[in-house]
Amino acid sequence: MAYDYDDQNIFAKILRGEIPNQTVEETAHTLAFNDIYPQAPVHVLVIPKGAYVCFDHFAAEASDAEIADFHRVAAKICADLGVAPDGGGAGYRTISNAGEDAVQEVPHYHMHILGGRPLGRMLQKAD
Ligand code: 5GP
Repeated sequence: MAYDYDDQNIFAKILRGEIPNQTVEETAHTLAFNDIYPQAPVHVLVIPKGAYVCFDHFAAEASDAEIADFHRVAAKICADLGVAPDGGGAGYRTISNAGEDAVQEVPHYHMHILGGRPLGRMLQKAD
Protein backbone atom coordinates (compact mmCIF):
# COMPACT_ATOMS: atom_id res chain seq x y z
CA MET A 1 0.00 0.00 0.00
CA ALA A 2 1.41 3.38 -0.93
CA TYR A 3 -0.93 6.26 -0.41
CA ASP A 4 0.32 9.72 -1.34
CA TYR A 5 -0.92 12.29 1.17
CA ASP A 6 -1.63 15.76 -0.22
CA ASP A 7 -0.77 18.18 2.59
CA GLN A 8 -2.64 20.97 0.80
CA ASN A 9 -6.05 19.36 1.41
CA ILE A 10 -8.56 21.42 3.36
CA PHE A 11 -8.43 19.31 6.54
CA ALA A 12 -4.63 19.53 6.63
CA LYS A 13 -5.08 23.31 6.51
CA ILE A 14 -7.61 23.12 9.35
CA LEU A 15 -5.13 21.05 11.40
CA ARG A 16 -2.41 23.64 10.79
CA GLY A 17 -4.78 26.41 11.90
CA GLU A 18 -4.79 28.03 8.45
CA ILE A 19 -8.58 27.67 8.15
CA PRO A 20 -10.98 28.09 11.09
CA ASN A 21 -13.27 25.34 12.30
CA GLN A 22 -16.01 24.85 14.87
CA THR A 23 -14.25 22.38 17.15
CA VAL A 24 -16.42 19.86 18.96
CA GLU A 25 -13.64 17.81 20.57
CA GLU A 26 -9.85 17.73 20.44
CA THR A 27 -7.26 15.33 21.83
CA ALA A 28 -3.57 14.70 21.14
CA HIS A 29 -4.43 12.42 18.19
CA THR A 30 -7.89 13.50 17.02
CA LEU A 31 -9.89 16.59 16.04
CA ALA A 32 -13.67 16.74 15.60
CA PHE A 33 -15.52 19.73 14.16
CA ASN A 34 -18.86 20.63 12.60
CA ASP A 35 -19.28 20.05 8.87
CA ILE A 36 -19.48 23.36 7.00
CA TYR A 37 -22.46 22.09 4.94
CA PRO A 38 -24.43 20.06 7.51
CA GLN A 39 -26.68 17.35 6.07
CA ALA A 40 -28.48 16.81 9.39
CA PRO A 41 -28.88 18.67 12.71
CA VAL A 42 -25.86 16.72 13.95
CA HIS A 43 -23.09 16.55 11.35
CA VAL A 44 -19.65 16.26 12.88
CA LEU A 45 -16.42 15.27 11.12
CA VAL A 46 -13.89 13.29 13.13
CA ILE A 47 -10.34 13.30 11.76
CA PRO A 48 -7.01 11.92 12.94
CA LYS A 49 -4.23 14.48 13.30
CA GLY A 50 -1.91 12.14 11.41
CA ALA A 51 -1.54 12.21 7.62
CA TYR A 52 -3.87 9.41 6.49
CA VAL A 53 -5.82 9.52 3.24
CA CYS A 54 -8.76 7.24 4.02
CA PHE A 55 -10.04 4.51 6.33
CA ASP A 56 -7.94 1.62 5.08
CA HIS A 57 -4.80 3.76 5.16
CA PHE A 58 -5.54 4.78 8.77
CA ALA A 59 -6.46 1.27 9.91
CA ALA A 60 -3.34 -0.23 8.35
CA GLU A 61 -0.73 2.34 9.37
CA ALA A 62 -1.89 4.34 12.40
CA SER A 63 -0.73 3.36 15.87
CA ASP A 64 -3.02 1.53 18.26
CA ALA A 65 -3.18 4.72 20.35
CA GLU A 66 -4.32 6.81 17.38
CA ILE A 67 -6.95 4.25 16.38
CA ALA A 68 -8.31 3.83 19.89
CA ASP A 69 -8.40 7.58 20.52
CA PHE A 70 -10.18 8.27 17.23
CA HIS A 71 -13.01 5.86 18.04
CA ARG A 72 -13.29 6.91 21.67
CA VAL A 73 -13.63 10.55 20.58
CA ALA A 74 -16.31 9.60 18.03
CA ALA A 75 -18.24 7.63 20.65
CA LYS A 76 -17.99 10.48 23.16
CA ILE A 77 -19.43 12.90 20.62
CA CYS A 78 -22.39 10.57 19.93
CA ALA A 79 -23.07 10.47 23.67
CA ASP A 80 -22.45 14.18 24.31
CA LEU A 81 -24.69 15.27 21.42
CA GLY A 82 -27.49 13.01 22.63
CA VAL A 83 -27.80 10.74 19.60
CA ALA A 84 -26.34 7.53 21.08
CA PRO A 85 -29.17 5.03 21.64
CA ASP A 86 -27.53 3.96 24.89
CA GLY A 87 -28.25 7.37 26.38
CA GLY A 88 -31.83 7.43 25.07
CA GLY A 89 -30.91 9.13 21.79
CA ALA A 90 -32.69 8.34 18.54
CA GLY A 91 -29.56 7.10 16.80
CA TYR A 92 -26.96 8.23 14.32
CA ARG A 93 -25.01 7.07 11.28
CA THR A 94 -21.28 7.06 10.74
CA ILE A 95 -19.99 7.30 7.16
CA SER A 96 -16.48 7.25 5.79
CA ASN A 97 -16.08 7.83 2.07
CA ALA A 98 -12.97 6.50 0.34
CA GLY A 99 -11.97 7.18 -3.22
CA GLU A 100 -13.83 7.80 -6.43
CA ASP A 101 -16.88 5.54 -6.19
CA ALA A 102 -17.66 6.89 -2.73
CA VAL A 103 -17.12 10.49 -3.92
CA GLN A 104 -14.53 11.30 -1.26
CA GLU A 105 -14.00 15.05 -1.60
CA VAL A 106 -11.31 15.64 1.00
CA PRO A 107 -8.33 13.24 0.89
CA HIS A 108 -7.70 13.23 4.64
CA TYR A 109 -9.41 10.39 6.50
CA HIS A 110 -12.62 11.47 8.19
CA MET A 111 -15.68 9.92 9.73
CA HIS A 112 -19.00 11.71 9.39
CA ILE A 113 -21.35 11.46 12.38
CA LEU A 114 -24.89 12.25 11.27
CA GLY A 115 -28.01 12.41 13.41
CA GLY A 116 -30.78 14.50 14.87
CA ARG A 117 -33.35 13.49 12.25
CA PRO A 118 -34.52 10.27 10.57
CA LEU A 119 -31.77 9.41 8.08
CA GLY A 120 -33.59 7.02 5.79
CA ARG A 121 -32.07 3.92 4.30
CA MET A 122 -28.34 3.58 4.03
CA LEU A 123 -27.93 3.99 0.27
CA GLN A 124 -29.83 5.39 -2.68
CA LYS A 125 -29.32 4.13 -6.20
CA ALA A 126 -26.51 5.86 -8.04
CA ASP A 127 -27.62 8.21 -10.84
P1 5GP B 1 -16.33 13.66 1.87
O1 5GP B 1 -17.18 13.82 0.65
O2 5GP B 1 -14.88 13.80 1.54
O3 5GP B 1 -16.66 12.40 2.63
O4 5GP B 1 -16.76 14.81 2.86
C1 5GP B 1 -16.08 16.02 2.97
C2 5GP B 1 -16.91 16.92 3.89
O5 5GP B 1 -16.12 18.01 4.25
C3 5GP B 1 -18.19 17.45 3.26
O6 5GP B 1 -19.31 17.05 4.03
C4 5GP B 1 -17.98 18.97 3.30
O7 5GP B 1 -19.16 19.69 3.58
C5 5GP B 1 -16.94 19.15 4.37
N1 5GP B 1 -16.08 20.31 4.19
C6 5GP B 1 -15.44 20.70 3.06
N2 5GP B 1 -14.70 21.80 3.29
C7 5GP B 1 -14.87 22.10 4.60
C8 5GP B 1 -14.35 23.15 5.43
O8 5GP B 1 -13.59 24.02 5.01
N3 5GP B 1 -14.74 23.16 6.73
C9 5GP B 1 -15.58 22.19 7.23
N4 5GP B 1 -15.89 22.28 8.53
N5 5GP B 1 -16.08 21.20 6.48
C10 5GP B 1 -15.73 21.16 5.18
